[in-house]
Amino acid sequence: MHELYIAQSILDSAVSHCLESGCSRIESVTVQVGVYSGVMSEALNFAFDVIKVGTIAETASLITEKVAPQCVCKNCAQIFEPADRFILICPECQSMDVSLTKGFELQMLCLEAI
Ligand SMILES: [Zn+2]
Repeated sequence: MHELYIAQSILDSAVSHCLESGCSRIESVTVQVGVYSGVMSEALNFAFDVIKVGTIAETASLITEKVAPQCVCKNCAQIFEPADRFILICPECQSMDVSLTKGFELQMLCLEAI
């Protein structure tokens, strides 16, 4: 279950950020999770709830923000949401020369600590 590993790294960096800024308790951690990142928000939340026990994040909530995939057409500069991860075609000019610019995110956005 790789969500456990990810939750652990989120917790570790949240704890060190918190301590560095002289705080003693984490209120909430917000992470951006791309739809194509392969991470299940529910599993991530579950793992976080298990590992936070006994840490300064014990009462913290993990907030996951889903990021929808986005493509940019290199031919006509159209920005669109792909219908399928593996079939990337511009709806405007039908070009297949497109690049996926969003959807793989997995990053900590915000940390609330006191
Ligand atoms: Zn196009």
